[in-house]
Amino acid sequence: MDNKNTEDNNNNNKKQNTILYAILAFLFLYAFTSTKNFMMTNEISYNKFLNMIENNQVESVVISASEIKIVPKEKEEGFSSKKVLYTGNVDDPNLINILNESGVEYRAESIQENYFADFIFSWVIMPIILFSIFRFLAGRIGKRMGAGPMMGLGKSNAKVYKENDIKITFDDVAGQDEAKESLKEIIDYLNNATKYTDIGAKLPKGALLVGPPGTGKTLLAKAVAGEANVPFLSISGSNFVEMFAGMGAAKVRDLFQEAEKNAPCIIFIDEVDSIGKSRDSQLQTNDEREQTLNQLLTQMDGFDSTKAIVVLAATNRPEILDKALLRPGRFDRRVIVDRPDLKGRVDILKVHSKGVKLGDDVDLEEIAKSTPGAVGADLANIVNEGALAAVKNGREFVMQEDLREAVEVIIAGKEKKDRILSPMEKRIVAFHEVGHALVAALLENTDPVHKITIVPRTMGALGYTMQLPEEEKYLVSKEELTNQIMVMLGGRSAEEEVFNLITTGASNDIERATKTARSMVTVYGMTDKFDMVALESVQNRYLDGRAARECSEETSTLIDQEVLNIIRTCHENTRKLLNENRDLLDKISEYLLEKETIFGDEFMEFVYEKYPELKEKKAKKLADKKQKEENTEY
Ligand code: ADP
Ligand code: MG
Ligand code: ZN
Repeated sequence: MDNKNTEDNNNNNKKQNTILYAILAFLFLYAFTSTKNFMMTNEISYNKFLNMIENNQVESVVISASEIKIVPKEKEEGFSSKKVLYTGNVDDPNLINILNESGVEYRAESIQENYFADFIFSWVIMPIILFSIFRFLAGRIGKRMGAGPMMGLGKSNAKVYKENDIKITFDDVAGQDEAKESLKEIIDYLNNATKYTDIGAKLPKGALLVGPPGTGKTLLAKAVAGEANVPFLSISGSNFVEMFAGMGAAKVRDLFQEAEKNAPCIIFIDEVDSIGKSRDSQLQTNDEREQTLNQLLTQMDGFDSTKAIVVLAATNRPEILDKALLRPGRFDRRVIVDRPDLKGRVDILKVHSKGVKLGDDVDLEEIAKSTPGAVGADLANIVNEGALAAVKNGREFVMQEDLREAVEVIIAGKEKKDRILSPMEKRIVAFHEVGHALVAALLENTDPVHKITIVPRTMGALGYTMQLPEEEKYLVSKEELTNQIMVMLGGRSAEEEVFNLITTGASNDIERATKTARSMVTVYGMTDKFDMVALESVQNRYLDGRAARECSEETSTLIDQEVLNIIRTCHENTRKLLNENRDLLDKISEYLLEKETIFGDEFMEFVYEKYPELKEKKAKKLADKKQKEENTEY
C-alpha cells in the first residue's frame, strides 16, 4: 500500500497542531510571568496594607505607577506561604515616610521586569495568533467557494487509498463470468489505449458494478486493476459526505488530480449511491451531496480522455442513482454482479479452500447445493468456519462434517446445548418440526427434507427443519408457492393437531408465509381477483427487496382480505393433511425426541413405509435425471 497522498495531508495537519500547542504554551507562560494581570485574587485594600505595616507584617514592597506589590513576612500566620499581595497605588505622599519609619524594604518597579513577557506577547504571540486565525478562515472559505486549495492551505483530507501493486486477478474471482467478460474490454483499453484512440474510438470512462452485498464487486474492481497491472485508487462514497459544505467536492477534485498523475489507472468509488442519489427524489435537499455529485459529473466529463483513466463504481441500489450518472460518457456501462448459481458457488468454495487442508471426504458440491442464495462473502465465511470447526474438533484437516456444521452456523447460529427446555417444550418443538417435514414430504414439488433437529441454536431457533432444493430453480409455479406456504404452516398445525395448543414458536413461520402469500397477490398476479395488476413495486431488489404499495387504500384492504384467504385455505389443508397422517407424525416425533437430530434418509424411511408409491416415484425421478444428464453429455 502506498498512501502517500494521505500522509502528506497528515503531515500538514501535524504542523498546524504543533503551532497551536506552541501558542497555548506561550500564553500559559505569559500568564504566569505576569501573574498580577491574571490572578487579582491577592488584592487587599490600602487600609489593610497600612495596617500590615503598622503591625510589622511586611517584609518588602515594590512600587509601580499603578500598584504596590507587597511581600509579607514569612512567620505571619494567615500568609504562611509568603504569598505576594497587591494593592492599588493611591498616590499616598506619606507612604515613603511610613515605609522608612517601619523599616520596610522598598523599591520602585524597574521597567525591565515585565518587559520580556510583554515583548514576546506583542511581537511574537499576537502575530502568530492572528496569522493562524487568518489561515483557518482562508481554508474554510476556500473550500466553501469550491475554489480549490487557497494558498495551498485549504486542502481536503480525501481518504484516497492508492495501491500500486495489486496481486488480485480474475482467478481469485470465481464465477461471475459475464461480469468478467464485460470488464475484459476495459483491461485491454487500459493496456493499449493508443489502439483505441488511433482509430478514433471514444474511450469508455466508467462502469457501474451492480449487485447484492458480498457478491464480489469490490473484489472484481481490484481484479481489473490487478489484471491490467495499473494503480488502483479507491474511496468510499460515504467518505465524500462531510460535515462542512464543499469538502466533498474538493475531495472529488483531489481524487481526479491524483488519478491524472497516475494514469493509466483505475478510480474505484465504492457505495456510489451515497453521493449519487437521485437529486429530484428527495424531499429535503442535501446541498453538500448535490455539490459532490455535480463535481463528480463535471470531472467525469472533463478529464483528459486521452489519458487512460477508468472510473469503476459499485452499488447495490442502482434504482436510486441519479440519471445523469448513467448517461453516455459517464457510467454508461452496467456490469451485473449477481448471486452465484450452483456452479458459481462450487467455484467460489474451491477458490477459498485453496489454502485450506481438506479431508478426502469433502464434497464441495454438496455444500454448494445446501446454500442456495448464498453470496461469495457467505461462502468464504463458511470455509473459514469449517476450518475453525476442524481445529475445535482437534483435526488437522477439514472434513465434510465441519463444513456442514459451518453451513448451519451461518444459517441458524451456533448450537446451544446448554439451553434447557422442559420435557413438554421439547415435545412441542419435536412435533412442530416433524410437522414441517411431513408436509414437505407428502406434497409434491417441494424441496426434500435434509435434516431435522431439536437442538437449539443461538440465533433463536429451538429446532429446525432443513430442506435442500434438488436443483437450481428460476421459475416457481403458483402450486409450488402454495405448497411452500403449507410447509411453513405445518409446524403450528402439528402443535394444534396434537396438543390443541397455540404457542409463540411459529412467529417466524407466520411471517414468511404471509410474505409469500402477499407477493402472490401483489407482485406475481396469481389471484383471480386482481388478475395481472401490479399492486406493489420492489424498491431495492439487491437488498431486502422491500415493496412499496402502488394502489388505493380500498384496494389495499382487499389485498389484506385476499392474503388472509390464501393463508386460511392453506392452514385448513395443512391441518387436514396432518390429521390424515397422525400415525406418521407421532411415530417420527417420538423417534426425533429420542435422537434429537435425524437426517433425510432416516426420515423418508418412515414415510416410504406408509407410502411405497412415493419411493417408486422418487426412484423414477432420479433415473430420469440421470438419463437426461447422460444425454446432454454427448
Ligand atoms: P461486495 O463489494 O460486492 O459487497 P466484496 O467484493 O467486498 O463484495 O466481497 C467480499 C468477500 O467475499 C471477498 O473479499 C471475497 O473473499 C468473497 N467473495 C465474494 N465474491 C466472490 C467471488 N465471486 N469469488 C471469490 N470470492 C468472493
Ligand atoms: Mg464492496
Ligand atoms: Zn417452524
